[in-house]
Amino acid sequence: MKTSIATVSLSGDLRDKLAAIAAAGFDGIEIFETDFVAFDASPREVGRMVRDHGLEISLFQPFRDFEGMPGEARARAFDRAERKFDLMGELGADLVLVCSNVAPDSLGGIDRAAADFRELGERAAPRGIRVGFEALAWGRHINDHRDAWEVVRRADHANVGLILDSFHTLARKIDPDTIRRIPADKIFFVQLADAPLIDMDLLYWSRHFRNMPGQGDLDVTGFMRAVAATGYDGVLSLEIFNDQFRGASTRSIAVDGRRSLIALADRVRRAEPASALSLPQMPDRVPVTGVEFIEFASEGAEAEALGRMLAALGFRRSGRHVSKSVDLWTQGDIHLVVNTETEGFAHASYVLHGTNVCDIGLSVEDAAATLERARALGADMFEQPLAPGQLAIPAIRGLGGSVLHFLDETSDLSRVWEIEFTPRPTEGQDAGLVAVDHIAQSMRYEELLTWLLFYTTIFQTAKTPMVDVVDPAGLVRSQAIEGADGGFRVTLNGAENARTLAGHFLAESFGSAVQHIAFRTEDIFATAERLARNGFETLTISPNYYADLGARLGLEPALVDRLRAAHILYDRDAAGEYFQLYSATWGEGFFFEIVERRGGYAGYGAVNAPFRIAAQKRGMRPAGMPKA
Ligand code: MG
Ligand code: MG
Repeated sequence: MKTSIATVSLSGDLRDKLAAIAAAGFDGIEIFETDFVAFDASPREVGRMVRDHGLEISLFQPFRDFEGMPGEARARAFDRAERKFDLMGELGADLVLVCSNVAPDSLGGIDRAAADFRELGERAAPRGIRVGFEALAWGRHINDHRDAWEVVRRADHANVGLILDSFHTLARKIDPDTIRRIPADKIFFVQLADAPLIDMDLLYWSRHFRNMPGQGDLDVTGFMRAVAATGYDGVLSLEIFNDQFRGASTRSIAVDGRRSLIALADRVRRAEPASALSLPQMPDRVPVTGVEFIEFASEGAEAEALGRMLAALGFRRSGRHVSKSVDLWTQGDIHLVVNTETEGFAHASYVLHGTNVCDIGLSVEDAAATLERARALGADMFEQPLAPGQLAIPAIRGLGGSVLHFLDETSDLSRVWEIEFTPRPTEGQDAGLVAVDHIAQSMRYEELLTWLLFYTTIFQTAKTPMVDVVDPAGLVRSQAIEGADGGFRVTLNGAENARTLAGHFLAESFGSAVQHIAFRTEDIFATAERLARNGFETLTISPNYYADLGARLGLEPALVDRLRAAHILYDRDAAGEYFQLYSATWGEGFFFEIVERRGGYAGYGAVNAPFRIAAQKRGMRPAGMPKA
């Protein structure tokens, strides 16, 4: 199996694109003609540049409005094709994509199109060029891969084959299983793209909203399973038209692209035993059973203030690292680590971002397998020299340069707290917090799909539908990633501007990071009482919220009174109820949340977000006021 990507998928000029595509590990590129025309080098030089990067030109595209033209226009179409063949010879490309005709004066007719392709095959053959026919979803006469295949079948020429594109098939809701009837040797090339389900004009949807397999809502896996079932083991290529990607980091989008293809092929190989897809073996997606620890990097007075906040939340400082300036705070099954080392990774993270979550430890079924899969998907490995008494815990880089560690039950890794920490005597009552419910990470909106792909391809997780969180200053898109049993939940929040709470946090903390941590309690009212006794500063919610809540949901007045008194927000769905309370914001917008889930409530209280955000903004340093 070879991987490829169309140059149109990335930002930058052709040189930037080639460097990023090669660095991400692709085998080839589709040259999108506009990228070539806009670039200031001869076709031979471009061909050499591509090969110098260790890449091949797997496809030259697109050649438009060819088949079914009448009279003079037909002759001109063949002349144009001959000129493209000349250019391909100089570039060193041997496969051209011909997309179905959209011209109003094209005539249609399967046999007419087949005759045109047969002749094109005759002209291409002596030059060693192959011609692939793709049905555009908005083609004038051919807009279905089944019809394109019939044209190819009737053309009956060794140099004429079919090009499949998941978007064109899935956008028109054509059953991908019809691909299973096509012989593999007549499928010359496969283009893959996903897209969010949006009801709009097909052409506009395709040109602006495509994304990587796994990032959208189309059944690209079902499409690819059908392709694999034919025995196809040719190039898998990404053709992604996306406005955000064209404004994003070329390197990072290229890495995402390759990750999406490898993860897709791996998924398909597991589902289609007869598949011929050749790709290196890797462990399957790894189940995450929980969040084992969350580590803060901090220093001096900030670390002391953080400690006071944790104590007010009912955490006890129950351990000290055997060799490092690191404290362990515990409550229920929750482990929080506060790292105040003056060198090493945590310190570097503190210097860059201020007090922040620099490291998250996930409990997984198999830590070594997790690392192996992450490596196969192009994740950045993380290692730093071990201090005395410190275990080698497998780790990779996560969001914003932070670190993700993996712990499992199969080794000493499950005993890290006993091995690395000296217990300290503790006293006092906890606040009833039992586990980490979810971790909320904020990022620029352009990065959201990157981290969605990261979490869903490495771990056995699923995404929930994206929701819009309405900040008074703009929109924040929120997407939850969840493990099967609720032991692992991450919400990804993509801020569109810096005036939103999430955007302000990003700007002030210099990059994407954990913005809030939600702990779960089994009794939010009891927890609220203990927090009040501990002097915990709860976010104050407007009384108007409670008047509206009672009326909107028809709640018992007594319940509304209790919620109001404790500043607890409330939501419910068909399966259960949700209770939330928040800390005051810390620094530039970090905060803690405490939640209780009753029944099978599945969400995160998005309906309450505008009121929570408004309350948080009231408590924050106004824009323009200098930091103390
Ligand atoms: Mg295409
Ligand atoms: Mg939350």
